[in-house]
Amino acid sequence: MFTYLDPTIRRKLIAQGKLRRIDLHGKALDPNVSPAEGELAINLLGPIPLPIHLGHGRTNVQWYASVRSTELSKVEELAGALRTQGGGALFSLLASSMAVNSVLLAGDPTKYNNPLVRVHSSCLTGDVFGSERCECGPQLEGALERISQEPGGGLLVYMAGHEGRGIGLWAKAATYLLQDAGENTYQANRSLGLPDDSRDFTDAGALLHHFVGDKPMRLLTNNPKKVQDLAKMGLSYITPVKHVLGVGESNRRYLDAKRQWGHRLDEQDLT
Ligand SMILES: [Zn+2]
Repeated sequence: MFTYLDPTIRRKLIAQGKLRRIDLHGKALDPNVSPAEGELAINLLGPIPLPIHLGHGRTNVQWYASVRSTELSKVEELAGALRTQGGGALFSLLASSMAVNSVLLAGDPTKYNNPLVRVHSSCLTGDVFGSERCECGPQLEGALERISQEPGGGLLVYMAGHEGRGIGLWAKAATYLLQDAGENTYQANRSLGLPDDSRDFTDAGALLHHFVGDKPMRLLTNNPKKVQDLAKMGLSYITPVKHVLGVGESNRRYLDAKRQWGHRLDEQDLT
């Protein structure tokens, strides 16, 4: 049974403050009132204590799962219909289609003073399999290490639907085959009729507003577009902090394409 769909558990979590709803600007909304048509609202579940193992030791973070209210309510509606029609076997398909982002918090967010932040795009091959075709794995681990070592703490937002800069895992697999036939990472997207970068940072912006507020923050990134996208959401006090890790033989060409596309990478970063 899907306990998170159960209304009594939902009410209990709301009463405990462990299920919240926020708007685009990170402000709290009433979780018992359905958002208006077209209004972006994000449901947040947590904090959930998460001991994590990093390269050089262990640390404890607070995990929040985050999902758009509209997406969740559609899944809940369909799940209700399936329950009455005896289609329980399709629950897993429904749940797996939801983009559930994560926030990993280190330190006390009420005391944040220019915290160190990372907005990380999901990458199954890099983050989980340790693939060296990109530098996502070392960037993720390095970000968590740096954030956990910060005296004032910080946070990492893990964007679940950002595989292959937003084109999805299936298309990303196809782009790898095109890259092996000579195309660079951006050309390969275009050959498939897909945009260079279709990542949407709206949810990340709302989560940063919620946890950091309008205060300054330092963002671990080499990608100026990420900083611009967040600034458009009103997060204008962001100082980018270079985050070059995991450069190697298998990804030098990929990183060079990123550099030519506008990422803040110098020649010497790639040698
Ligand atoms: Zn990657």
